Amino acid sequence: ADSSVERILAGLDPEQRTAVTAPAGPVCILAGAGTGKTRAITHRIAYRVLRGEVAARHVLAVTFTARAAAEMRARLGALGVPGVQARTFHGAALRQVRYFSSRLLSGREMPELLDSKVRLVTLAAAKVGLRTDRAAARDLAGEIEWAKSSLVEPGEYVVAAAKALRETPHDPARVAEVFAGYEQIKRANGVIDFEDMLRAAVWGIEDHPDVGEQIRAQYRHFVVDEYQDVNPLQQRLLDAWLGGRDDLTVVGDASQTIYSFTGATSAHLIDFPRQRRDAVVVRLVRDYRSTPQVVGLANAVIRQARGTEARLRLELVGQRPPGAEPDLRIFADEPAEAAAVAARCRDLIAAGTPAREIAILFRTNAQSEAYEKALAEAEVAYQVQGAERFFERTEIRQALIALRAATRSTPGETPLVPAVVDALSAVGWAPDQPPSGGAARERWEALAALVQLAEEYASIPVVLPIGEAAAVERPVSLADFCAELSRRAAAQHVPTVDGVTLASLHSAKGLEWDSVFLVGLSDGTLPTSYAKTAEQVEEERRLLYVGVTRAREWLWLSYASARSPGGRARRPSRFLPQFDRSGGTRSAEAPGAGGRKPDRRRTQIISCRVCGATLLAGADRKLGRCADCPSDLDSELLDRLRDWRSRVAAVQKVPAYVVFTD
Ligand code: ATP
Ligand code: MG
Repeated sequence: ADSSVERILAGLDPEQRTAVTAPAGPVCILAGAGTGKTRAITHRIAYRVLRGEVAARHVLAVTFTARAAAEMRARLGALGVPGVQARTFHGAALRQVRYFSSRLLSGREMPELLDSKVRLVTLAAAKVGLRTDRAAARDLAGEIEWAKSSLVEPGEYVVAAAKALRETPHDPARVAEVFAGYEQIKRANGVIDFEDMLRAAVWGIEDHPDVGEQIRAQYRHFVVDEYQDVNPLQQRLLDAWLGGRDDLTVVGDASQTIYSFTGATSAHLIDFPRQRRDAVVVRLVRDYRSTPQVVGLANAVIRQARGTEARLRLELVGQRPPGAEPDLRIFADEPAEAAAVAARCRDLIAAGTPAREIAILFRTNAQSEAYEKALAEAEVAYQVQGAERFFERTEIRQALIALRAATRSTPGETPLVPAVVDALSAVGWAPDQPPSGGAARERWEALAALVQLAEEYASIPVVLPIGEAAAVERPVSLADFCAELSRRAAAQHVPTVDGVTLASLHSAKGLEWDSVFLVGLSDGTLPTSYAKTAEQVEEERRLLYVGVTRAREWLWLSYASARSPGGRARRPSRFLPQFDRSGGTRSAEAPGAGGRKPDRRRTQIISCRVCGATLLAGADRKLGRCADCPSDLDSELLDRLRDWRSRVAAVQKVPAYVVFTD
């Protein structure tokens, strides 16, 4: 045992050792990203188990995601300590309620767990005369989640929401009514939600002394990772488990609090040393994860902190040898950004980086669609983490049904985009009305992504060498578009084992990859345009900090000056002073205003036999077709091409370049 204990201490710095070898009792590690907090708690568990201070089965380690819990179990296994329970709060609560079901449920079956509140919230809203579409119901559901996670009962909601300065989706009194109605319907139907499960675990212990006793016999040493994101309900459960004992190790980083919309607060972490005066408090500043280049960028993001966090902030000191400079890139539009990211992924993999060591991180799940498509086209395997794949999202499945239904009633000659917008009104989507920060907004954006797909599918961007860009519409029917969507959906259902990770910034915390792409870094996306209060904007900045610090070797940061070709101009994220705010580029991707530089590696010059124009075209099937079978181009398009060619040739004395993109 001595040699294995030595092995556990060998890979630790002096501060980490202090935390690992501290005697039973409260321990708090306050430290920045990549400083080895998770490593320290994992080694602390192993150290104490191997020294016989506590049996593996008596340890409960709580982490934030199922993936992080699995990683901790794997690390402990590798250190020779199997059998530790590493779980999420939900996982641990579910297990406890199941185990004690005969006591807590008086012999009744475990009630069904609701995976979404939306349906019952809609019913509750209707009962009090509030008409809600799905988006509004999701906002209400989010608010109820906040209340329940903050231990706020329906009768206390109005006061609590005012105190917490909540931006409520409705008049607070109405929200409280819906909240109360929701609870009633839930009880009447014999179902429970996620917060109920945590509450059942809490009340189970608080109301049943024998349950509390058994829990105390079972769990003796507690460890909580990512403690900065614990909400009051989770803290209450932790207190119930502890039952007044204090063998608790917590680790966290106030600069990584990113779940305050669910009531999480770093106050628990910050106050820990004050509330437990005998706590061993350790601060770590050496960053073992990332190259100094990545660490430098992370510090630049931290330096922008305000308020409490600014006072507490801990700058990281990079320990690793220098690596490659981060890549800062600007693209004309999102498809170009996604294509470049996919191409770079392909290159990295070809150069030997395992695909599972690459991640593409974004602010909202709706952004994943463009990257799923680009990766599929570049034939790079990928997996979407912590979120459903785009075509498996509930609203997208409903939208596809609505679109298919609309093909029967839409006259064939209706232009595609208006037809799609019209059909989506059946699922409650309207353009120019993005709802306000949470699930409703995400849903709106996922549906907006469908409209954008329609726009792309129905138009062929044409770029002229004088820097002018234009889009030529092509006549495609709603039925064509539905067939195209089915093709894409099918292509994305291919299961992948080892692939590039696509993840939201929220689901990426605690994890690390060799190469990380942070994409869509425009103002309005990060920070989201729905972050209004200074505190909400701060949380967005912390999300960027979490993203930057996921990279071990190399980081890419990019944004697109417009969402779709020719779309409304966007500015770079205000958190990235490195980007030239005038819209200029550090590594230029777009020539001149609005123009799109053809990707020469993927293009070839051919001459269209019908119109005679010189075509600079992506070397894909469409291009080949244009040269070989000109009948693919309808006559109106050909006329416009001829027209452009003559105009441009006259002005510039060069042939017109036409880029066809998918
Ligand atoms: P986050 O805040 O992102 O959760 P963290 O503080 O939990 O980060 P870890 O994930 O524990 O950091 O460690 C980051 C990386 O640094 C891991 O790859 C880990 O193996 C490595 N590491 C940690 N401590 C040391 C050390 N003393 N020597 C060498 N490598 C270390
Ligand atoms: Mg960690």
